Formats: sequence, structure tokens, C-alpha cells
Amino acid sequence: MNNESQQVVNAVIDGKAIQAPPSLSVIQALWHAGYPRVKGVGCLEGVCGSCRVLVRRKDESAVNIELGCQTLVEEGMQVMFLVFPNPTHHHYRLSHIQNSWDLHAQFHRIFPEAANCRHCGGCTRGCPKGIDVEKGVELASAGRFKEAGELFVECIMCNICMTGCAEEIAPNHVGLFARRVTAYFHSRPSNLIHRLEQIRKGELRIEEDKDE
Ligand code: SF4
Ligand code: SF4
Repeated sequence: MNNESQQVVNAVIDGKAIQAPPSLSVIQALWHAGYPRVKGVGCLEGVCGSCRVLVRRKDESAVNIELGCQTLVEEGMQVMFLVFPNPTHHHYRLSHIQNSWDLHAQFHRIFPEAANCRHCGGCTRGCPKGIDVEKGVELASAGRFKEAGELFVECIMCNICMTGCAEEIAPNHVGLFARRVTAYFHSRPSNLIHRLEQIRKGELRIEEDKDE
């Protein structure tokens, strides 16, 4: 075993003092130390947003919100997993929205609290994916759903933005709504529509593989 493979760092994760190689993520380090945590652990690839952690690094006073599967363990690091209550649910069916003229009014019926945004920026500061969450809420509230939805493309639904909002807005669900209605009410790509129409009319020739 060489020196590099023997190297370990000391950290505190969820109150447990652990030792682990610095090549491991926070979650892997916890497992490595013999703590088989499964709560708040999901895809392990930075996509699902389950493993939200508060991180304080050695000699720093700032506490950051990061993902436990993406953050490598460091010497002197303090980590605490965030466990949130179940998110607020906004019930709606896209098929109940008559047409795109009705969208803006329906949005404010479904998300009445969105109009109360204080523009405090707390949601944006907390977002581990660097999304301008506050702007997304503002755009959706103004009926600019396509622009709002584009801001939330990287959202992993970790709920951090929702948990920190004093107005109890669920910005991630606002973003999801914006993306859904954009897809539901807007035309599909013209080349795709054209190709499907060709298939419907029987005009599309499919080359058969002569070897089969
Ligand atoms: S945390 Fe809530 S009130 Fe503050 S900017 Fe975000 S959505 Fe608005
Ligand atoms: S927008 Fe909210 S739910 Fe989505 S990644 Fe950012 S903090 Fe998480």
C-alpha cells in the first residue's frame, strides 16, 4: 500500500467523527466509516437531489448547501444531512386548463403565494445547482412560462429553495409547472411535425436492411 492510498482525513458527518480517504464523497466516507446511511441518499450522481447537506469547511465560518454525493470529504469538514418535511403539493391537471390564454390566471389560482415573493434571494442562494430561482418565480408570475421553465432545466427537485422561503412558495414546483405548460401548449419542433405527417400519409419511405 503506498502513502497516497493510506492517506485519510478527519471529518464530522452527522455528529459522527469519521476517517476516510479524501477521494471519497461525503456519503461514501460515511459508509467507509461503518455508518450505512440510506435516508437522504438517492442516485449518487448529483441528479435526484436527495442528499442535501450543510457543509462547513475547516477555518471557514460560511455554511454551504451542497450535495453529499458530489462533495469530497476534506480534513476538518463538518457535514450535516438536511431532512425536510414532505413538500407542499399543488394539485392541477394540464387538461383542465382550457388554452394558453387561460394559463396566467390558472397559474395564480394554483400558486397564489407566488405573487407574494419578497425578492429576498434566499432560494437562489441556497440552490446547489446555481439556478436563478428568484428570477424563475418572477418570470412565471409575470406569465413568461417559457423563459421561467428554461431557468429550471437543471433543477433536481431537492426542495431546498422551498424550505427556505418565508412566503412558503415552492419555486421548484413553479419551475416544473412552467416547463410542463411550455411543452403542453407550444408547438412541437416543425421538422418532427412534418415527419409525423409524412408517416400518417404513408409518404415516408423506410429503407429495409437487405441483409436481414
Ligand atoms: S425565497 Fe421565496 S420570497 Fe425569497 S426570493 Fe425566493 S421565492 Fe421569493
Ligand atoms: S431550484 Fe430548488 S429544488 Fe431545484 S435544484 Fe435549486 S434548490 Fe433544488
